[in-house]
Formats: sequence, structure tokens, C-alpha cells
Amino acid sequence: MDISCLAVGYLETNCYIVSSGLDCLVIDPGDDAGEILSVIRDKGLRVHAILITHGHFDHFMAAGELQKAFGVPVYIGKDDADLLRDPGWMSEYMSPGYTAPRDLRTLSDGDTVSAGELSFQVMSAPGHSPGSVCFYSPGVLFSGDLLFMGSIGRTDLPGGNSIAIRESLAKVGRLADDTAVYPGHGPSTTVGEEKTSNPYMD
Ligand SMILES: [Zn+2]
Repeated sequence: MDISCLAVGYLETNCYIVSSGLDCLVIDPGDDAGEILSVIRDKGLRVHAILITHGHFDHFMAAGELQKAFGVPVYIGKDDADLLRDPGWMSEYMSPGYTAPRDLRTLSDGDTVSAGELSFQVMSAPGHSPGSVCFYSPGVLFSGDLLFMGSIGRTDLPGGNSIAIRESLAKVGRLADDTAVYPGHGPSTTVGEEKTSNPYMD
């Protein structure tokens, strides 16, 4: 598995271009569609789907434009899907040219998303938002804004839940310590490192 990370937009959201051979999934294209497109084209990758960890604008703003370029479905946790269709309170922070993705598919806990040899299990992870999900493949977790190096996602935005996020973090804590964690913002880490140094993971 090859993982490229681009920090996109003014919140420096991590957009991950995940590939195996030429098969590729794009996780959280939050902005800067042109930059993401050129990385994919330079590598000659075949995009199968766009995955969104949760329905906050800085994670999905470029999804519609990439979808137009590749003609692929966009996946998001079922309880956050409406935020892509109608960004509501987030609109004032978004670029005016936003086009919502068309072929929107919703994910539930335990679903699988695949592309060639890539296969990710969907872990529902509410707390930062109601429909937050993580994408897990043995040894690798894309944690969205659930878990960061040394910190966790905020729970004070609409739909946030500080009790739910603790339960979601406990699920991550049950993964193998050497599981690499690729968060929605900031550097990557491991489950073991966070269990020993992150005050929110006990
Ligand atoms: Zn967020």
C-alpha cells in the first residue's frame, strides 16, 4: 500500500491518495482539487472511489470536482451524508463555487470499501460528528478527526458528542499497537504511541 498525503485548504486537512499498483482511493479531498488531480495524474493512478471521513467542509470541498474528473462514487458515513448535500452552518466558511457530489453512497459500521487489492473496513466513530467513520485495513487506520497525534477532534461543533467520542476512541484502543494512524490533520502516529502519550486515550 502506498500512501501520499497532501495538506489541503486553509485548515491544512490531510488528503490521502492511497494506492496499490495503479488502483487508488482518495480520502478527504478537502480543497485544492487541482493539486490532488495533478498528483494522481503524475502517478497514472486509476481512482475507484472518493472516501470522506466526516461531513465537515474541510474534508469534502473538492469531492465534487474530483468526481467530475474521474466519474467515481463518493462515500460517507450515513449520518453525515446530509452535510454534503446541504452544508448549512458551514456555508460561510466554504468557497462559493461548491458543487455537491452527485453519486453519494452512505456507509455503515462494518461495510467494506475496496479498490483492486486495497480493502478497508468502515468503523463508525461518532463524537466529532454523528456520522464520522474511520477506514481500517490491518496495520493502517485513517482516523479522520477522531484521533490526532497527542489530541482528539473537537466535540463542540453541531452534532458533536463528548461521550460518544470516548467510546469511539476506545474502539481504536483495541486495535494492535503497531497500527499506523493517519489523521485528518497533522502528523501520522501509531495506536501504541497514542495509548501511552495521548491523555484522551486511557
Ligand atoms: Zn471535522
